[in-house]
Amino acid sequence: MAQLSDDCFAFGGPMMSVDEAVSIIAARVTAVQDIETVSLTAADGRILAKEISAPLPLPPFTNSAVDGYAVRSGDLAQVEEQEQALPVAGRVQAGAAAQGPVEPGHAVRIFTGAPMPQGADTVFMQEDVRLDQGRVVLPMGLKPGANVRMAGEDIPAGHSALAAGQRLRPQDVALVAAFGLTHVEVRRRIRVAVFSTGNELVSPGVSRGAAQLFDSNRFMLMAMLVRLGCEVSDLGILRDDRVSLASALKSVAGTLDLILTTGGVSTGEEDHVKAAVESVGTLVLWRMAIKPGRPVAMGIIGGTPFIGLPGNPVASFVTFVHVVRPTVLALAGATQQHLIPMPVRAAFTYKKKIARREYVRVNLRKGENGVLEAVKFPREGAGLLSSLVDTDGLVELGEEITLVEPGQTVGFLGYASLI
Ligand code: AMP
Ligand code: MG
Repeated sequence: MAQLSDDCFAFGGPMMSVDEAVSIIAARVTAVQDIETVSLTAADGRILAKEISAPLPLPPFTNSAVDGYAVRSGDLAQVEEQEQALPVAGRVQAGAAAQGPVEPGHAVRIFTGAPMPQGADTVFMQEDVRLDQGRVVLPMGLKPGANVRMAGEDIPAGHSALAAGQRLRPQDVALVAAFGLTHVEVRRRIRVAVFSTGNELVSPGVSRGAAQLFDSNRFMLMAMLVRLGCEVSDLGILRDDRVSLASALKSVAGTLDLILTTGGVSTGEEDHVKAAVESVGTLVLWRMAIKPGRPVAMGIIGGTPFIGLPGNPVASFVTFVHVVRPTVLALAGATQQHLIPMPVRAAFTYKKKIARREYVRVNLRKGENGVLEAVKFPREGAGLLSSLVDTDGLVELGEEITLVEPGQTVGFLGYASLI
Protein backbone atom coordinates (compact mmCIF):
# COMPACT_ATOMS: atom_id res chain seq x y z
CA MET A 1 0.00 0.00 0.00
CA ALA A 2 1.25 3.48 -0.84
CA GLN A 3 1.40 5.44 2.41
CA LEU A 4 0.64 9.12 1.98
CA SER A 5 1.48 11.86 4.45
CA ASP A 6 -1.38 13.45 6.39
CA ASP A 7 -0.93 16.85 4.76
CA CYS A 8 -0.63 15.53 1.24
CA PHE A 9 -3.82 17.19 0.03
CA ALA A 10 -3.20 20.50 1.84
CA PHE A 11 -4.09 23.53 -0.23
CA GLY A 12 -3.87 27.22 0.66
CA GLY A 13 -6.12 29.03 -1.80
CA PRO A 14 -9.82 29.82 -1.46
CA MET A 15 -10.87 27.98 -4.65
CA MET A 16 -9.30 25.01 -6.40
CA SER A 17 -9.13 25.06 -10.18
CA VAL A 18 -9.32 21.79 -12.06
CA ASP A 19 -5.73 22.19 -13.26
CA GLU A 20 -4.49 22.82 -9.71
CA ALA A 21 -6.33 19.73 -8.49
CA VAL A 22 -4.75 17.54 -11.15
CA SER A 23 -1.25 18.91 -10.57
CA ILE A 24 -1.46 18.55 -6.77
CA ILE A 25 -2.61 14.95 -7.16
CA ALA A 26 0.03 14.08 -9.76
CA ALA A 27 2.79 15.60 -7.63
CA ARG A 28 1.80 14.22 -4.23
CA VAL A 29 0.21 10.84 -4.74
CA THR A 30 2.70 8.00 -5.00
CA ALA A 31 2.18 4.85 -7.02
CA VAL A 32 1.81 1.32 -5.73
CA GLN A 33 5.13 -0.48 -6.14
CA ASP A 34 4.07 -4.11 -6.47
CA ILE A 35 4.67 -5.61 -9.89
CA GLU A 36 3.06 -8.71 -11.34
CA THR A 37 3.59 -10.59 -14.59
CA VAL A 38 0.53 -11.15 -16.76
CA SER A 39 0.01 -12.92 -20.05
CA LEU A 40 -0.87 -10.99 -23.19
CA THR A 41 -4.52 -12.02 -22.97
CA ALA A 42 -4.75 -10.37 -19.55
CA ALA A 43 -2.71 -7.28 -20.41
CA ASP A 44 -5.33 -4.91 -21.84
CA GLY A 45 -5.91 -1.94 -19.52
CA ARG A 46 -3.00 -2.79 -17.22
CA ILE A 47 -0.26 -0.29 -16.39
CA LEU A 48 3.13 -1.19 -17.78
CA ALA A 49 5.68 -1.30 -14.95
CA LYS A 50 8.85 -1.17 -17.06
CA GLU A 51 9.73 0.25 -20.43
CA ILE A 52 9.75 -2.22 -23.33
CA SER A 53 12.49 -1.83 -25.93
CA ALA A 54 12.19 -3.58 -29.27
CA PRO A 55 14.04 -6.94 -29.02
CA LEU A 56 13.89 -7.21 -32.84
CA PRO A 57 13.19 -4.84 -35.70
CA LEU A 58 9.67 -4.55 -37.10
CA PRO A 59 9.15 -5.80 -39.67
CA PRO A 60 11.83 -8.38 -38.82
CA PHE A 61 12.86 -8.78 -42.50
CA THR A 62 12.41 -6.78 -45.70
CA ASN A 63 9.25 -7.93 -47.48
CA SER A 64 6.74 -7.12 -50.17
CA ALA A 65 3.82 -4.84 -49.31
CA VAL A 66 1.68 -6.17 -52.19
CA ASP A 67 1.00 -9.16 -54.41
CA GLY A 68 3.02 -8.57 -57.58
CA TYR A 69 6.45 -8.86 -59.23
CA ALA A 70 9.78 -8.07 -57.58
CA VAL A 71 12.53 -6.57 -59.72
CA ARG A 72 15.92 -4.89 -59.50
CA SER A 73 15.28 -1.19 -60.07
CA GLY A 74 18.62 -0.98 -61.88
CA ASP A 75 17.12 -3.19 -64.61
CA LEU A 76 14.32 -0.76 -65.34
CA ALA A 77 14.68 1.28 -68.53
CA GLN A 78 14.93 4.99 -67.91
CA VAL A 79 12.84 5.93 -70.96
CA GLU A 80 9.50 7.51 -70.00
CA GLU A 81 6.19 6.35 -71.46
CA GLN A 82 7.38 2.96 -72.54
CA GLU A 83 6.50 -0.43 -71.15
CA GLN A 84 9.14 -2.99 -70.39
CA ALA A 85 8.83 -6.80 -70.40
CA LEU A 86 10.92 -9.02 -68.11
CA PRO A 87 10.91 -12.82 -67.97
CA VAL A 88 9.46 -14.19 -64.72
CA ALA A 89 11.85 -16.52 -62.92
CA GLY A 90 10.86 -17.76 -59.48
CA ARG A 91 8.00 -17.38 -57.08
CA VAL A 92 8.04 -16.52 -53.38
CA GLN A 93 5.09 -16.80 -51.02
CA ALA A 94 4.54 -15.36 -47.54
CA GLY A 95 6.30 -17.55 -45.00
CA ALA A 96 8.65 -19.08 -47.58
CA ALA A 97 12.36 -18.43 -47.68
CA ALA A 98 13.39 -16.51 -50.81
CA GLN A 99 15.17 -18.89 -53.14
CA GLY A 100 18.42 -17.16 -54.00
CA PRO A 101 18.92 -13.80 -55.64
CA VAL A 102 16.80 -12.52 -58.49
CA GLU A 103 18.64 -12.90 -61.78
CA PRO A 104 19.57 -9.61 -63.45
CA GLY A 105 16.95 -8.68 -66.06
CA HIS A 106 14.30 -10.92 -64.47
CA ALA A 107 11.23 -10.52 -62.26
CA VAL A 108 10.11 -12.80 -59.41
CA ARG A 109 6.45 -13.47 -58.66
CA ILE A 110 5.93 -12.36 -55.04
CA PHE A 111 3.09 -12.13 -52.53
CA THR A 112 2.29 -9.75 -49.66
CA GLY A 113 4.51 -10.38 -46.66
CA ALA A 114 6.97 -12.62 -48.57
CA PRO A 115 10.68 -11.89 -48.06
CA MET A 116 12.26 -9.86 -50.86
CA PRO A 117 14.62 -11.95 -53.00
CA GLN A 118 18.21 -10.79 -52.73
CA GLY A 119 18.94 -8.05 -55.23
CA ALA A 120 15.28 -7.08 -55.73
CA ASP A 121 14.31 -3.70 -54.31
CA THR A 122 11.03 -2.80 -56.04
CA VAL A 123 7.66 -4.53 -56.44
CA PHE A 124 5.11 -3.90 -59.19
CA MET A 125 1.51 -4.46 -58.05
CA GLN A 126 -0.17 -7.30 -59.96
CA GLU A 127 -3.03 -4.92 -60.84
CA ASP A 128 -0.56 -2.70 -62.74
CA VAL A 129 1.05 -5.36 -64.97
CA ARG A 130 0.14 -7.71 -67.80
CA LEU A 131 1.47 -11.21 -68.45
CA ASP A 132 2.65 -12.02 -71.93
CA GLN A 133 4.07 -15.50 -72.69
CA GLY A 134 6.02 -15.98 -69.46
CA ARG A 135 7.04 -12.36 -69.31
CA VAL A 136 5.60 -9.63 -67.16
CA VAL A 137 4.94 -6.31 -68.87
CA LEU A 138 5.75 -3.47 -66.49
CA PRO A 139 4.48 0.10 -66.77
CA MET A 140 6.92 3.01 -66.57
CA GLY A 141 7.26 5.49 -63.80
CA LEU A 142 7.40 3.30 -60.67
CA LYS A 143 9.87 4.67 -58.13
CA PRO A 144 12.76 2.40 -57.04
CA GLY A 145 11.88 0.93 -53.63
CA ALA A 146 8.11 1.07 -54.26
CA ASN A 147 5.88 -1.43 -52.43
CA VAL A 148 8.68 -2.76 -50.26
CA ARG A 149 8.62 -2.76 -46.45
CA MET A 150 12.15 -2.45 -45.14
CA ALA A 151 13.26 -4.39 -42.05
CA GLY A 152 12.94 -2.06 -39.07
CA GLU A 153 11.04 0.66 -40.96
CA ASP A 154 8.20 0.44 -38.44
CA ILE A 155 10.34 0.09 -35.32
CA PRO A 156 14.12 -0.41 -35.31
CA ALA A 157 15.64 -2.96 -32.91
CA GLY A 158 16.44 -1.45 -29.53
CA HIS A 159 13.97 1.40 -29.93
CA SER A 160 12.06 2.34 -26.77
CA ALA A 161 8.64 1.18 -27.93
CA LEU A 162 6.39 1.38 -24.85
CA ALA A 163 7.08 3.59 -21.85
CA ALA A 164 6.63 2.59 -18.22
CA GLY A 165 3.29 3.96 -17.03
CA GLN A 166 1.56 3.25 -20.31
CA ARG A 167 -2.03 2.08 -19.82
CA LEU A 168 -2.01 -0.76 -22.29
CA ARG A 169 -4.49 -0.55 -25.14
CA PRO A 170 -5.27 -3.33 -27.63
CA GLN A 171 -2.75 -1.89 -30.10
CA ASP A 172 -0.06 -1.85 -27.39
CA VAL A 173 -0.76 -5.50 -26.64
CA ALA A 174 -0.39 -6.18 -30.38
CA LEU A 175 3.04 -4.54 -30.34
CA VAL A 176 4.18 -6.67 -27.41
CA ALA A 177 3.00 -9.76 -29.30
CA ALA A 178 4.79 -8.62 -32.47
CA PHE A 179 8.00 -8.60 -30.40
CA GLY A 180 7.39 -12.26 -29.58
CA LEU A 181 6.92 -11.60 -25.87
CA THR A 182 4.36 -13.75 -24.06
CA HIS A 183 4.07 -11.78 -20.80
CA VAL A 184 4.38 -8.22 -19.54
CA GLU A 185 5.26 -6.76 -16.18
CA VAL A 186 2.51 -4.51 -14.88
CA ARG A 187 1.72 -2.76 -11.61
CA ARG A 188 -0.77 -4.58 -9.48
CA ARG A 189 -4.32 -3.29 -9.69
CA ILE A 190 -5.15 -0.70 -7.08
CA ARG A 191 -7.80 -1.63 -4.53
CA VAL A 192 -10.59 0.86 -4.02
CA ALA A 193 -13.46 0.68 -1.54
CA VAL A 194 -16.65 2.52 -2.41
CA PHE A 195 -19.61 3.43 -0.27
CA SER A 196 -22.55 5.76 -0.43
CA THR A 197 -23.84 7.81 2.46
CA GLY A 198 -27.37 8.97 3.11
CA ASN A 199 -30.38 7.96 5.17
CA GLU A 200 -32.54 8.36 2.07
CA LEU A 201 -30.70 5.65 0.11
CA VAL A 202 -31.49 1.96 -0.30
CA SER A 203 -29.76 -0.55 -2.53
CA PRO A 204 -31.57 -1.89 -5.59
CA GLY A 205 -33.36 -5.09 -4.60
CA VAL A 206 -34.23 -3.82 -1.12
CA SER A 207 -37.74 -2.52 -0.43
CA ARG A 208 -37.87 1.25 -0.67
CA GLY A 209 -39.63 3.54 1.79
CA ALA A 210 -41.78 6.39 0.49
CA ALA A 211 -39.04 9.00 1.04
CA GLN A 212 -36.20 6.82 -0.12
CA LEU A 213 -34.45 6.40 -3.44
CA PHE A 214 -32.31 3.68 -4.89
CA ASP A 215 -28.60 4.29 -4.64
CA SER A 216 -27.36 4.87 -8.18
CA ASN A 217 -24.06 6.71 -7.69
CA ARG A 218 -22.28 3.78 -6.08
CA PHE A 219 -22.87 1.63 -9.16
CA MET A 220 -21.79 4.41 -11.50
CA LEU A 221 -18.59 5.02 -9.53
CA MET A 222 -17.79 1.31 -9.25
CA ALA A 223 -18.27 0.89 -13.01
CA MET A 224 -15.97 3.85 -13.70
CA LEU A 225 -13.33 2.45 -11.34
CA VAL A 226 -13.47 -0.95 -13.01
CA ARG A 227 -12.95 0.73 -16.39
CA LEU A 228 -9.90 2.42 -14.92
CA GLY A 229 -8.53 -1.01 -13.98
CA CYS A 230 -9.24 -0.95 -10.24
CA GLU A 231 -10.18 -3.85 -8.01
CA VAL A 232 -13.34 -2.58 -6.34
CA SER A 233 -14.86 -3.45 -2.96
CA ASP A 234 -18.50 -2.54 -2.56
CA LEU A 235 -19.09 -1.41 1.01
CA GLY A 236 -22.76 -0.55 0.51
CA ILE A 237 -24.60 2.36 2.09
CA LEU A 238 -23.67 4.07 5.34
CA ARG A 239 -26.14 6.09 7.35
CA ASP A 240 -25.81 9.79 8.11
CA ASP A 241 -24.18 9.24 11.46
CA ARG A 242 -20.69 10.35 12.38
CA VAL A 243 -19.86 7.48 14.69
CA SER A 244 -20.82 4.66 12.34
CA LEU A 245 -19.17 6.43 9.39
CA ALA A 246 -15.96 6.87 11.39
CA SER A 247 -15.82 3.25 12.44
CA ALA A 248 -16.50 2.01 8.89
CA LEU A 249 -13.76 4.26 7.52
CA LYS A 250 -11.31 3.19 10.16
CA SER A 251 -11.95 -0.49 9.60
CA VAL A 252 -11.07 -0.36 5.89
CA ALA A 253 -8.24 2.17 5.96
CA GLY A 254 -4.87 0.49 5.73
CA THR A 255 -6.11 -2.49 3.74
CA LEU A 256 -6.76 -0.52 0.55
CA ASP A 257 -5.22 2.04 -1.75
CA LEU A 258 -8.18 4.45 -1.91
CA ILE A 259 -11.50 5.00 -0.17
CA LEU A 260 -14.20 6.67 -2.21
CA THR A 261 -17.56 7.89 -0.93
CA THR A 262 -20.45 9.79 -2.42
CA GLY A 263 -22.81 12.14 -0.58
CA GLY A 264 -22.63 13.86 2.77
CA VAL A 265 -19.79 16.26 2.03
CA SER A 266 -21.78 19.49 1.71
CA THR A 267 -21.80 21.70 4.74
CA GLY A 268 -25.33 21.03 6.03
CA GLU A 269 -25.69 19.64 9.55
CA GLU A 270 -26.67 16.24 8.16
CA ASP A 271 -23.44 15.97 6.18
CA HIS A 272 -21.37 13.86 8.52
CA VAL A 273 -18.59 12.58 6.31
CA LYS A 274 -16.30 15.54 7.02
CA ALA A 275 -16.53 15.15 10.81
CA ALA A 276 -16.19 11.37 10.55
CA VAL A 277 -12.99 11.57 8.50
CA GLU A 278 -11.58 14.25 10.82
CA SER A 279 -12.13 11.97 13.80
CA VAL A 280 -10.03 9.16 12.29
CA GLY A 281 -7.66 11.03 9.97
CA THR A 282 -7.17 14.40 8.31
CA LEU A 283 -9.41 16.16 5.84
CA VAL A 284 -9.44 19.20 3.59
CA LEU A 285 -12.40 20.39 1.61
CA TRP A 286 -11.42 21.33 -1.88
CA ARG A 287 -13.83 24.02 -3.04
CA MET A 288 -13.63 23.24 -6.72
CA ALA A 289 -14.14 26.04 -9.24
CA ILE A 290 -16.23 23.70 -11.33
CA LYS A 291 -19.90 23.25 -12.24
CA PRO A 292 -21.55 20.82 -11.81
CA GLY A 293 -19.56 20.11 -8.68
CA ARG A 294 -19.45 20.98 -5.04
CA PRO A 295 -16.79 20.71 -2.42
CA VAL A 296 -14.82 17.52 -2.75
CA ALA A 297 -13.48 16.11 0.52
CA MET A 298 -9.87 14.97 0.33
CA GLY A 299 -8.43 13.11 3.26
CA ILE A 300 -5.88 10.68 4.59
CA ILE A 301 -6.93 7.92 6.98
CA GLY A 302 -4.05 5.85 8.33
CA GLY A 303 -1.96 6.65 5.26
CA THR A 304 -4.77 5.74 2.84
CA PRO A 305 -6.19 8.48 0.63
CA PHE A 306 -9.88 9.26 0.97
CA ILE A 307 -12.05 11.12 -1.53
CA GLY A 308 -15.59 12.19 -0.72
CA LEU A 309 -17.59 13.14 -3.80
CA PRO A 310 -20.85 15.10 -3.83
CA GLY A 311 -24.13 13.17 -3.85
CA ASN A 312 -25.82 14.69 -6.85
CA PRO A 313 -25.22 12.21 -9.67
CA VAL A 314 -23.95 14.68 -12.27
CA ALA A 315 -21.70 16.46 -9.76
CA SER A 316 -20.45 13.07 -8.66
CA PHE A 317 -19.68 12.09 -12.27
CA VAL A 318 -17.87 15.34 -13.14
CA THR A 319 -15.80 15.47 -9.96
CA PHE A 320 -14.90 11.80 -10.41
CA VAL A 321 -13.42 12.67 -13.78
CA HIS A 322 -11.33 15.56 -12.45
CA VAL A 323 -10.30 14.31 -9.02
CA VAL A 324 -10.74 10.53 -8.74
CA ARG A 325 -9.47 9.69 -12.22
CA PRO A 326 -6.11 11.50 -11.81
CA THR A 327 -5.77 10.02 -8.30
CA VAL A 328 -6.40 6.50 -9.56
CA LEU A 329 -3.92 6.98 -12.41
CA ALA A 330 -1.28 8.32 -10.00
CA LEU A 331 -1.82 5.49 -7.50
CA ALA A 332 -1.75 2.92 -10.30
CA GLY A 333 1.56 4.24 -11.62
CA ALA A 334 0.01 5.37 -14.90
CA THR A 335 1.18 8.38 -16.83
CA GLN A 336 -1.44 11.12 -16.37
CA GLN A 337 -3.63 11.18 -19.45
CA HIS A 338 -4.75 14.71 -19.99
CA LEU A 339 -8.21 15.14 -21.38
CA ILE A 340 -8.10 16.71 -24.83
CA PRO A 341 -11.38 18.33 -25.87
CA MET A 342 -12.23 18.11 -29.57
CA PRO A 343 -13.33 21.32 -31.28
CA VAL A 344 -17.01 21.35 -32.25
CA ARG A 345 -19.46 24.11 -33.06
CA ALA A 346 -21.82 25.20 -30.30
CA ALA A 347 -25.50 25.06 -31.29
CA PHE A 348 -26.60 26.75 -28.07
CA THR A 349 -26.39 29.94 -26.04
CA TYR A 350 -24.96 29.69 -22.54
CA LYS A 351 -24.00 32.23 -19.90
CA LYS A 352 -21.53 31.34 -17.21
CA LYS A 353 -19.54 32.80 -14.35
CA ILE A 354 -15.98 33.85 -14.96
CA ALA A 355 -13.21 31.98 -13.09
CA ARG A 356 -15.16 28.73 -12.97
CA ARG A 357 -14.95 25.81 -15.35
CA GLU A 358 -18.30 24.52 -16.47
CA TYR A 359 -19.36 21.31 -18.16
CA VAL A 360 -22.43 21.33 -20.37
CA ARG A 361 -24.07 18.02 -21.25
CA VAL A 362 -24.51 17.83 -25.01
CA ASN A 363 -25.38 15.65 -27.96
CA LEU A 364 -23.43 15.81 -31.19
CA ARG A 365 -25.09 16.17 -34.55
CA LYS A 366 -23.85 16.85 -38.06
CA GLY A 367 -24.62 20.44 -38.94
CA GLU A 368 -24.07 22.46 -42.12
CA ASN A 369 -21.20 21.22 -44.31
CA GLY A 370 -20.89 18.15 -42.12
CA VAL A 371 -19.40 20.17 -39.25
CA LEU A 372 -20.08 18.62 -35.85
CA GLU A 373 -22.37 20.64 -33.65
CA ALA A 374 -22.99 20.30 -29.93
CA VAL A 375 -26.63 20.53 -28.89
CA LYS A 376 -27.18 21.29 -25.22
CA PHE A 377 -29.35 19.00 -23.14
CA PRO A 378 -32.43 21.12 -22.42
CA ARG A 379 -32.24 20.92 -18.61
CA GLU A 380 -29.38 21.62 -16.24
CA GLY A 381 -30.06 20.08 -12.81
CA ALA A 382 -27.14 18.24 -11.21
CA GLY A 383 -29.54 15.51 -10.09
CA LEU A 384 -30.75 14.56 -13.56
CA LEU A 385 -29.43 11.13 -14.45
CA SER A 386 -31.23 11.38 -17.79
CA SER A 387 -28.92 14.27 -18.67
CA LEU A 388 -25.96 11.88 -18.58
CA VAL A 389 -27.77 8.93 -20.13
CA ASP A 390 -29.27 10.79 -23.08
CA THR A 391 -26.16 12.74 -24.11
CA ASP A 392 -22.88 11.99 -25.87
CA GLY A 393 -20.50 13.94 -23.67
CA LEU A 394 -19.54 17.22 -22.08
CA VAL A 395 -18.61 20.57 -23.54
CA GLU A 396 -15.83 22.07 -21.44
CA LEU A 397 -16.04 25.82 -20.96
CA GLY A 398 -12.83 27.29 -19.61
CA GLU A 399 -12.52 29.64 -16.63
CA GLU A 400 -12.15 32.73 -18.85
CA ILE A 401 -15.39 32.22 -20.80
CA THR A 402 -18.55 34.13 -19.78
CA LEU A 403 -20.78 33.59 -22.80
CA VAL A 404 -21.18 30.98 -25.51
CA GLU A 405 -23.16 31.81 -28.63
CA PRO A 406 -24.26 29.58 -31.50
CA GLY A 407 -21.50 29.06 -34.07
CA GLN A 408 -18.68 29.51 -31.56
CA THR A 409 -16.06 26.74 -31.37
CA VAL A 410 -16.09 24.86 -28.05
CA GLY A 411 -14.25 21.79 -26.75
CA PHE A 412 -16.11 18.47 -26.55
CA LEU A 413 -15.18 15.49 -24.38
CA GLY A 414 -16.95 12.24 -25.27
CA TYR A 415 -17.88 10.07 -22.30
CA ALA A 416 -15.69 7.22 -23.51
CA SER A 417 -12.61 9.47 -23.36
CA LEU A 418 -13.21 10.35 -19.70
CA ILE A 419 -12.49 6.93 -18.25
P1 AMP B 1 -25.67 15.10 -0.49
O1 AMP B 1 -24.42 15.33 -1.23
O2 AMP B 1 -25.59 13.97 0.48
O3 AMP B 1 -26.16 16.35 0.14
O4 AMP B 1 -26.77 14.66 -1.57
C1 AMP B 1 -27.16 15.52 -2.61
C2 AMP B 1 -28.28 14.91 -3.41
O5 AMP B 1 -27.82 13.76 -4.07
C3 AMP B 1 -29.47 14.47 -2.58
O6 AMP B 1 -30.64 14.75 -3.30
C4 AMP B 1 -29.27 12.99 -2.44
O7 AMP B 1 -30.47 12.28 -2.25
C5 AMP B 1 -28.63 12.62 -3.76
N1 AMP B 1 -27.78 11.46 -3.58
C6 AMP B 1 -26.84 11.32 -2.64
N2 AMP B 1 -26.21 10.14 -2.74
C7 AMP B 1 -26.79 9.50 -3.79
C8 AMP B 1 -26.59 8.23 -4.39
N3 AMP B 1 -25.66 7.41 -3.92
N4 AMP B 1 -27.35 7.91 -5.45
C9 AMP B 1 -28.26 8.77 -5.93
N5 AMP B 1 -28.50 9.97 -5.40
C10 AMP B 1 -27.78 10.35 -4.33
MG1 MG C 1 -26.67 13.11 1.99
